[in-house]
Amino acid sequence: MTNNSKSIVPVASATSPYVSSRRNAPNRQAIALISDHGDPAAEIGKEEAGGQNVYVRKVGEALAKLGWQVDMFTRKSRPDDAKIVQHSPHCRTIRLTAGPEEFIPRDQLFDYMPEFVESFQKFQSKEGTNYPLIHTNYWMSAWVGLRLREASNIQLVHTYHSLGAVKYQAVPHKPAIADTRLAVEQQILEQANCVVATSPQEEEMLRTLVSQQGCIEVIPCGTDISTFHTIPKAEARAKLGLKQNEAIILYVGRFDPRKGIETLVRACAELKDHTNLRLVIVGGSEPGSVDGEERERIERIVAELGLTEQTLFAGRVGHDLLPLYYTAADVSVIPSHYEPFGLVAIEAMACGTPVVASDVGGLKFSVVPEETGLLVPPQDVDGFAQAIDRILSDEIWARKLRKQASLRVQQNFSWSGVAVHLSNLYRHLLAQSISSELLWNEPLPRRAEVASTYVASSKAVSA
Ligand code: UDP
Repeated sequence: MTNNSKSIVPVASATSPYVSSRRNAPNRQAIALISDHGDPAAEIGKEEAGGQNVYVRKVGEALAKLGWQVDMFTRKSRPDDAKIVQHSPHCRTIRLTAGPEEFIPRDQLFDYMPEFVESFQKFQSKEGTNYPLIHTNYWMSAWVGLRLREASNIQLVHTYHSLGAVKYQAVPHKPAIADTRLAVEQQILEQANCVVATSPQEEEMLRTLVSQQGCIEVIPCGTDISTFHTIPKAEARAKLGLKQNEAIILYVGRFDPRKGIETLVRACAELKDHTNLRLVIVGGSEPGSVDGEERERIERIVAELGLTEQTLFAGRVGHDLLPLYYTAADVSVIPSHYEPFGLVAIEAMACGTPVVASDVGGLKFSVVPEETGLLVPPQDVDGFAQAIDRILSDEIWARKLRKQASLRVQQNFSWSGVAVHLSNLYRHLLAQSISSELLWNEPLPRRAEVASTYVASSKAVSA
């Protein structure tokens, strides 16, 4: 399975009519996932597309397999993109109009959220659907969800993906949007029916930095273990045209200063004893785009440190080829300043690659030090160099780490497992909302009707 747009079949264009989810799947309960800027159908690894896009897409597809009709809403950011993209029979991405159809950086998107709410409501009435449960992703979607809940009785679930309270600790000047973001992040924790934290560390962070009130359930992220699995290292290197005798250090992810690529590059410069070192940097888009600035900065540091010959900038790679990169590597490095979860860690481990990661957030949860890799304080260049060196210098131990890493992912992090947890949570919330509706609001004849609707849909869900 690839996650680039080639694998997607568009079923409707801006002008063609499409079939309503209700009419299409009368026995399925329709739910909405909202991801304002993280288009689930986008090319991953480009500009701001990253873990959130993967999460929403994979969770959506897995929930559809469990019996839900899953509609994933995002902002239409390119005129050529289809308005609706069908990923599987009961899972689709719907791109709503909210501002100009062009890439807008996250920090400038909030002004378009009222239009997003309007477009969502128009879509609902056109389809004749009223989503009883909405799962929002990122703080701007949370704002959208809270507005939608003012207009109708919905169950609201939220996943943060990134936390302003953490992000702003590390920046010298907060952007103009900071206060709004912090207020919405607090509001959603206190008012959502449930917030999903992707690691116990994120839960702790939410309680310490955001609010003591509100319901939190820890449901980790997953990975696709049929895509990310072990293959022989020699085979992977041969397929990618990488040399068999090199010590390969891999970075996969977006070009963003907070990802700490600079720390990794500087650490590689300290590994002079390894004469056959190769640093492979995967991710990003072409020069000239928004993330191009960070890429150019990293390229300059690579040149200053005399590492140009040893460094390969592989560009964006889809999930079809990424397993080859992970498997080809001796060590996968995640030097982020902060990471609420960090999908790259479990993808690498699923491919049997030891991970050296910053000792922060969800990485503390997924990486088991000394068993599946090593954890190092963020931005500690010497620490990263020493940890990478330990793995490169001890082949027998590295082999043990490889085995334990892939086992840990198989046993703990699969999208289907994540979807089962989320599905149970949704059903619990919907059942709760029905019983409170039955208890307090509805006249008797209506109660039976409402109850039978949910019995029908929960049967479909458990089918
Ligand atoms: N990714 C990709 N191709 C690339 C670079 C990244 O498919 O060239 C994917 C990567 O496999 C992972 C996601 O982007 O699934 C990054 O998620 P993560 O949680 O590690 O970081 P985020 O982008 O959310 O900060």
